[in-house]
Amino acid sequence: MNLILLGPPGCGKGTQAARLKEKYGVIPLSTGDMLRAAVAAGTDVGKKAKAIMEAGQLVPDDVVVGVIAERIGQPDVQKQGFVLDGFPRTVAQAKSLDQMMEKRGWKLDHIIEMKVDEQALFARIDKRARETVAAGGAVRADDNAETLKKRIVVYREQTQPILPYYAKAGRLESVDGMAPIDDVTKQLEGIVTKG
Ligand code: ADP
Repeated sequence: MNLILLGPPGCGKGTQAARLKEKYGVIPLSTGDMLRAAVAAGTDVGKKAKAIMEAGQLVPDDVVVGVIAERIGQPDVQKQGFVLDGFPRTVAQAKSLDQMMEKRGWKLDHIIEMKVDEQALFARIDKRARETVAAGGAVRADDNAETLKKRIVVYREQTQPILPYYAKAGRLESVDGMAPIDDVTKQLEGIVTKG
């Protein structure tokens, strides 16, 4: 099974992707996590991505598409399927993904938008940063109010147009991302188990 979770920063994609993995074995593919790992490892991709991510902008499509194309070719993903979190983030990325899927003869089983109020996102990201500090971890360089504002504008301008791209093709489903975490999980399970 191959899934996409769509929605703004802080809508809960990562949390739900982890739960979908537990329940269905699908591999969460978070381009944000992959890019942060590349930055930490100092790879070529990481060098290209670092400053862009810190500024809350999008890493170029060809870089991100390359990262995903490589990852979906690996055996665990081939066997267990994936849940994409943070990709696609532009219509060009969505089109590249469609091409990748066609080439492999795979399909996207569910494309699911997590609907949330923008107002809630600031509080959620703030909470994530505070919890990370409390657990002794390092706060993400882009998890601050100023950069989050930019990320939300970038989401509105560059990522939201993906929704009509999929909706026009009758491929978009949605859940209420404002519901408690367990309820969101139940809504997602309802979608993926209906086939
Ligand atoms: P969030 O969902 O909280 O915005 P992510 O961890 O998904 O954060 O992404 C962090 C940053 O990584 C983004 O702001 C962007 O700079 C970069 N990034 C992640 N995925 C993509 C993508 N598909 N295309 C371009 N840039 C990306």
